[in-house]
This record gives sequence, structure tokens and C-alpha cells, in this order.
Amino acid sequence: MHFEQALKNPIFKTIASCAAALETPCYVVGGYVRDFILSRHTSQDIDVVAIGNGIELAESVAKALPNAPKVSIFKTYGTAMLRFKGVNLEFVGARKESYKKESRNPEICEGTIEDDQKRRDFTINALAISLNASDYGTLLDPFNGMEDLKNKRIVTPLNPNLTFSDDPLRMLRAIRFATQLEFEIDPSALEAIEKNHRRIQIISKERIVIELHKILESKKPSIGFLLLERTGLLDLIIPELTALKGIDEVEGQRHKDNFYHTLEVLDNIAQHTNNVWLRWTALLHDIGKAPTKKFSKKVGWTFHGHELKGSKMVYHLFKRLKMPLNDKMKYVQKLVFMSSRPIAISGAATTDAAVRRLLFDAGDAIGDLMTLCEADITTKNVRKFKTYLNNFKMVRQKMEEVEARDQIRNFQPPISGEDIMKAFELKPCREIGIIKEFIKEAILEGQIPNESNAAHTLMLEKGKQLGLKTRL
Ligand code: ATP
Ligand code: MG
Repeated sequence: MHFEQALKNPIFKTIASCAAALETPCYVVGGYVRDFILSRHTSQDIDVVAIGNGIELAESVAKALPNAPKVSIFKTYGTAMLRFKGVNLEFVGARKESYKKESRNPEICEGTIEDDQKRRDFTINALAISLNASDYGTLLDPFNGMEDLKNKRIVTPLNPNLTFSDDPLRMLRAIRFATQLEFEIDPSALEAIEKNHRRIQIISKERIVIELHKILESKKPSIGFLLLERTGLLDLIIPELTALKGIDEVEGQRHKDNFYHTLEVLDNIAQHTNNVWLRWTALLHDIGKAPTKKFSKKVGWTFHGHELKGSKMVYHLFKRLKMPLNDKMKYVQKLVFMSSRPIAISGAATTDAAVRRLLFDAGDAIGDLMTLCEADITTKNVRKFKTYLNNFKMVRQKMEEVEARDQIRNFQPPISGEDIMKAFELKPCREIGIIKEFIKEAILEGQIPNESNAAHTLMLEKGKQLGLKTRL
């Protein structure tokens, strides 16, 4: 089969002529070929395999390009990278590999293109297109990757047990591709993942998180989390989620399965946002429910305080997975902590004061919080679904009205600490904080409007009450 169409980018001609001059046959391989055939235009990465020295080829290509881009060389792996017009080009010498049990770093020696295709993780990732004059544009597909692309299957070129035990990261890659491409993992491969799932422990947390992010960023992330759960991987990576599984029944009262509920919320939110941190929030919004679950005869099942508990668990989870403990983590914590607030004030309880407090506490995250709450509606009762959604619509509407009038979202106190010190001739002291808090509360409660005249009057009143003397 001919795939010259895949080689439209003029860079391929440059690579081909450099390779011819060096007498080093070479091929485009892997993700680029797969995504071309699937008409997927997500990645701009091109992987080139050289039968010989990949680093030499990279250097020669760089020289032949306008402005000679810089080549980054990774000697231990025999790879070289360069960036040209927004495309990442990676060169590697064809290799044969053998693995040791305790590490995913193989011993490497030179090989043929077939050897190199054999060491690739899946048949759909082992497709190569020739860049050589004799058969330029010809597809090399020794493992029937085309067939698997057509049938939407993830299949390993070799015995799957060996594939996954050699490099356990491939287990996550299999699940990630199954999610991104909405492909089926071959049953024998799935079985091998189940069998080898404990080997994931030799993979660095950073690599695991990269794959988790790709799953989360997919159109339907639940596909990946269901597979992670089914193979035993989820229990090793995010046990907080597997702890949500199951339905308990006491005296005829049942609660919902919070694991499957969570995955529904995640798929829902994926339709409304590409923000991966908001998707993380959907995934983690209920993790506090496992440790707070209680049954009482009077009220049945409760999860009191699960939002606070959950937000604390977010920190430990991020830390364990070596994710950055920065503003993104705080954002996830904040949304998990506040995840029930819009529900508590929806319906009959939507007072202006409650809306002002919500705006004040959520700040700029308010829109995302509402998106989370709307995604959280998973009831299959159509009437209830409509009612809940409509309630949130009313909360949103009220929020807009209140915000237009009172500007609470990025609340700036109309009276500053300095104003208070000046008015009462004070040095920094406790009373300043008391007065500021009193004014803020009065504004949130709607006792005074959010403006400086009213706040000034209230400040004088409160100061007097505290026994302070004004300058005048
Ligand atoms: P994407 O770029 O969308 O993540 P990709 O398939 O291009 O997908 P890369 O990580 O860029 O993935 O790897 C490029 C190619 O290298 C793959 O297509 C595959 O042939 C091979 N490869 C990558 N990681 C592995 C691995 N762990 N084991 C075997 N082959 C791998
Ligand atoms: Mg790639």
C-alpha cells in the first residue's frame, strides 16, 4: 500500500535526501502513521527510525533545514530530537531489545526495521512508511496493524504477557489508547494486563500521571477508568476511587454506587469543559464519601462533612502521585470543598444573602463550580432531572443579578484598614479586623449596599460601639 499522502510535509523529502546521502535507510513510524490513517490531527510529532545511526541522521537533517535548528541528543537512548515549524522530529536507530525483570530499561542492540517494529507496544503503533528511494511511501505492516485499526482493536505484536511484563507502562498506554480512540483492548491483552497489573509499581508516578491526564482529556474518560478498575490498576493508583465502589443496604435502605456515579459526572463534565483540572475535580468530588459514610435509623445513609474530608484527601492524593502542590491543587481542593454549596442554596433557599456568600467564597471559580454541580445531576428520573437543572438555572440567574448590583465576586472591601486607622487614629490593632469583618458581613447579609458611604457610616457606628474615638 502507498501512503505518499502522509508525506506531504516537505520535511520528509529533506529527511529522505539526507538519509540517501548517508546511505542510512529510514522510516516514519508509530503515532504519526497511525493518526494519519485515522485522520486524527492531534499530535505534531514525527518519529523516524534509521537503520543505522539516528543521531547522525538528525544532525544532517538539521543542517539541511533553514536556520539549522538545534538538535537535542540523548546518547544513552541513541535518540535525537529537533523542532522545526512547530513539528517535533524524533530520530532513533532501529533496535532490538531484551528486558530484565527489575527495570523497564532494556538492553539495546542494533536491529532491522522488523526488529524495531516488533519492540513497539501495539500493532497500530508498529506501522511504518518507507522514506527510501526504492519504495518511498510504502507501508510496512508486518503485524496487521491496518486490520486492527479498521476493527478498532488494541493488540500487542508479541505475546501480551511479555509485552506488559517487559514494560508495564504499556498497560496504561493500552488503556489510554482504548479511551482516546474508543478502541477495544484484545481480550488476551486485557487478561495479560490483569495478570501483570502489580508491575505498575516500577513505573514512575510522573509517567503514570501523564497517562492519567490523557485519559482525563479524552471525550469519554469513563472508558479508561472502568478499564483501570477492572484490571486492578486503579486500586494501586487511586484507591480513593475504588473505595467508592459498592452499594450497602441496611434495613432496606440503599445508597447509590458512588464510583459509577463519579464516572457519570466525569463524562458529563467532559462535554462542557476541556479544563483538565475541572475534570480532576469531577473525578474527585465525592472521594470523601467513603470515609464519612454512616447509617442511622433516623435518617438512613449520610456522608456528613465529605466535602471537607474530600478536599483534604485531594492534597494527599496529589502528593502521592507527585503532582504539583500548587494553585491547580488548591483549585481542585476548593471546588471539592464547595461542591455541595450551590445545591444547598438552590430551590426555595435561593436568597440574595446566600447567593452573595457563595459568590464571595467561590470567587473566580464560581462558573466552574456551577458546571460541576450541573454535571453532578445523574438521576435517571426525568422529572427530578429537570427540576434540579432548573434550580441551578435560577441560582445562575440570581447570581448574575446580584453580581451586577453588588460586585461580590472579587470582593474589595469599600473601607480599608488604613481608612479605619485614619478615622480613629489607631495603630495596627485587633479592632481594625473586627470592624472590617463587621462591614463585610453587613454587605453579604444585605444590610448595607457594597459602597463606601454606607460602609463609612457603619464603620463609625461600630467603632463607637467598641469604645473608639473619632478624630473629629
Ligand atoms: P501520542 O503521541 O498520541 O501519545 P504515540 O503512539 O505517538 O501517541 P509516543 O509516546 O509519542 O506515542 O511514542 C511514539 C511511538 O513509540 C509509539 O507509536 C510506539 O510505536 C512507540 N512507543 C512509545 N512508547 C512505547 C513503549 N512503552 N513500548 C513500546 N513502544 C512504545
Ligand atoms: Mg507521539
